[in-house]
Amino acid sequence: MVTPIHVLSDQVANKIAAGEVVDRPASVVKELMENALDAGATHIDVEIVSGGRKLISVSDNGHGMDRDNALLSLERHATSKIKDVDDIERVDTLGFRGEALAAIASVSRFSLTTRTAEALCGTEITVSGGKIQDVQERGCPPGTKMQVRNLFFNVPARRKFLRTEQTEQSHVRQVFLVYGLSYPAVDLKLTVDSRELYRLAGGATLEERLRDLYSAAFVETLRVVSYEQDGVKITGCVGLPQTHRGDRSEQYIFINGRPASAPILGAAINEAYQTLIPKGRYPLVFLFIELDPSMVDINVHPTKKEVRFRRPGLVRDILIESIRSALTTASAGSDSALPTMPVQEESRFTKPILKIENMPTTRTFQYPRMPLISEETAQVDTREPSSSSLPLPLNDEQDISSKNGPWTSCRVLGQVGGLYVILETEGGLVLMDPHAAHERILFERFMNEVLGHKVKGQGLLVPETVELGPQDALRVRKNMTLFEKMGFGISEFGGDTFIVDAIPNCLGNVSALSVLADVAHSFERGGARGGTEKWAEEKVARAACRAAVKARDKLTLEEIEQLVVDLARAEMPYTCPHGRPTLILMSFPELDKKFGRA
Ligand code: ADP
Ligand code: MG
Repeated sequence: MVTPIHVLSDQVANKIAAGEVVDRPASVVKELMENALDAGATHIDVEIVSGGRKLISVSDNGHGMDRDNALLSLERHATSKIKDVDDIERVDTLGFRGEALAAIASVSRFSLTTRTAEALCGTEITVSGGKIQDVQERGCPPGTKMQVRNLFFNVPARRKFLRTEQTEQSHVRQVFLVYGLSYPAVDLKLTVDSRELYRLAGGATLEERLRDLYSAAFVETLRVVSYEQDGVKITGCVGLPQTHRGDRSEQYIFINGRPASAPILGAAINEAYQTLIPKGRYPLVFLFIELDPSMVDINVHPTKKEVRFRRPGLVRDILIESIRSALTTASAGSDSALPTMPVQEESRFTKPILKIENMPTTRTFQYPRMPLISEETAQVDTREPSSSSLPLPLNDEQDISSKNGPWTSCRVLGQVGGLYVILETEGGLVLMDPHAAHERILFERFMNEVLGHKVKGQGLLVPETVELGPQDALRVRKNMTLFEKMGFGISEFGGDTFIVDAIPNCLGNVSALSVLADVAHSFERGGARGGTEKWAEEKVARAACRAAVKARDKLTLEEIEQLVVDLARAEMPYTCPHGRPTLILMSFPELDKKFGRA
């Protein structure tokens, strides 16, 4: 039997097509905000309830529509923005495909209220699952208000794919943030479950927006980009190499005002920062690329997220150059409000990364050989490590001699490169990265406490309030019990602000902000879910220890010696918990060989 062919009804076709444009509340917010911006709005109010499942409302003070246009706007492929395919080459609006309203109205209970400035009265249209229910005259201010209720009420398959309210909400906030960044001139407000989350004053500069959305301290870690060549103009800010992230979530790129990206741009950014930041880390960028619209094809993807350049190589080179020059030139003469920061590092000789106090420099080193681990040492030198001026070792009960430490005796000779400590051991010359070593020691101590359920939280004298970005805040909220188990005292303070009143004892005096932000960030790839509990704990411990160690910029010689002692007793002394080496050994035979004495 042959199944007859029939043409799908508009309603069914719209519903199917909706999948490409609208896949979650955030994409509805994106389309509606774009429409409001295209309508020339200077004021946009966004509101969501229950992560956008119950309600998404976007109202603007743009040019509005008359009754006929309002009805037309709901048809598929109805747009006021282009007439012909060629127009796409010149289009300067965010939308042009004429799909969004038809799609959104077909998968929700939708209402549109709109009025042009000249009209005495507005129009209200209600639609349910793509069917127009009612068209009425309605008194309303000039502009447009779109309300989307019960998204996907008639597409259960889609609804099942929605994540928790918090997750959907954080995606919506991400979209809001993106348009907040690209339209600093526009007044924007986001209300979530009747709580006002952001109110961004219009008429702002990018710097002011960044300050409103992040913080003043954050803006200080950025450098201004302003570069133009061959008709390609690049403006915005990029992060100093010190700040980087584990993924591209803080890389915002706008092409002719439209949030978009292209694979070559990511590669160009990596290249611009090559050698400046560790492999596998990503710098922060907020970049606006402007070029002749005919040089870029924005119609590659229904959501227009990815674009293609006519001359990708050119854009790539200019982008690299623009970032490089922002990072290297003193931005004297730049008219930006951003503070200028010296990027070229001062010599590490004059400005060490880690300052070691009372390090013997010219005099020879007159302190006793440090007995460390082996039986051999016990014969040569019977003093216990604790008999020196060193603080007591970590684990008194641990049988030291049973462990194979890296050496049996050692003395500290000095420091090079403002960081590395030079040690002489009976086996040869050792270079130690004290930060890596410290991280390893803290990590093992922390994990021992966690696994033995012995973590002690240390109450902070003054609880710190910590404000996190939306993604990080979500990660913290999801892992509250884990944090509690690991000695953190964290409570929610509304919005993305948390109060930290205790941090794990073993981390010492470290700012709650840096620890919490780093720990939250450690969940950015893969999240804590997939893995076992121990895996998640290790992740937290690793990030916390790194943050704690990073905060130290001074150690005394005694502390260095203690590090050596502690490291010798660690389970895995040779690498930090992130896998970097703690020690590099050059054995005497190796040295002899190098000097031709073999
Ligand atoms: P597109 O934005 O691609 O043109 P949409 O389906 O998003 O398609 O919108 C269809 C048309 O409805 C737009 O071209 C525009 O003329 C009109 N429109 C949509 N939203 C608004 C708004 N907020 N204010 C004024 N007109 C709007
Ligand atoms: Mg649109």
